[in-house]
Amino acid sequence: MGSWFSRRDFLPAGLKADRVELDGNRIRVHARSLDASAACPRCGTVSRHVHSKYWRRPADLPAHGREVELVLLVRRFRCRAVGCPTKIFSERFPPDVTRPHARRTSRLHELVRHIGIALGGRPAQALAGRLLLPVSKDTFLRSVRAKTEGVVADPRVVGIDDWAWRKGQRYGTLICDLERRKVIDLLPDRDPATVEAWLRARPGIEVVARDRNGGYGGATARALPDAVQVADRWHLLENASTAFLAGTCQPFARLSG
Ligand SMILES: [Zn+2]
Repeated sequence: MGSWFSRRDFLPAGLKADRVELDGNRIRVHARSLDASAACPRCGTVSRHVHSKYWRRPADLPAHGREVELVLLVRRFRCRAVGCPTKIFSERFPPDVTRPHARRTSRLHELVRHIGIALGGRPAQALAGRLLLPVSKDTFLRSVRAKTEGVVADPRVVGIDDWAWRKGQRYGTLICDLERRKVIDLLPDRDPATVEAWLRARPGIEVVARDRNGGYGGATARALPDAVQVADRWHLLENASTAFLAGTCQPFARLSG
């Protein structure tokens, strides 16, 4: 026997839905934080003194064949801590809800990123249209790149593969840390010299998984002559559905099995 499903259950944790509005082919969910207070980002003092309000409109996962937009109430609080130079600050939502200034909820952003990694820009955009995801091909590129930022990686086992905007048109090189199962870099082209320079800067790499064709083998041999090369029959572009369903770079894990 199931339990009743409330409006709140449709939203990321920590939000409350005030009302749900249908506007043509779009569902608008007016939502707010469940917290009555917020911590000053500079000094950490918790404040309940609301100064003003505004609204953000991040896109969320589609539902019932319609696009979904959150109309998210954001409160500005006063910080009254003595000596804190921040007088007014906007509340922050948990990172799994949405990031500051983001145009999408985090769960939609993750979905976009996985589709972008699996398919590349142009095919990803076509699929996104069918899935009612309001995303441009540039957004796919940015979402893949954003994930590679701030990765302090000293990788030992990497996978190298092409990453394309459209089928048949090469665009760049995607590099995954296969042990951490993360995309760690997106190189602007698939020139072996670019890959070679990248590998040369990371002498700690011991194993490189790559496809059987192309110049990645030569680049690896020149940059890291002692590294073990593993022929990887799995291609990001050709096995998109697996990557999409797995939700990570998980297909690479087969190499160690
Ligand atoms: Zn403060």
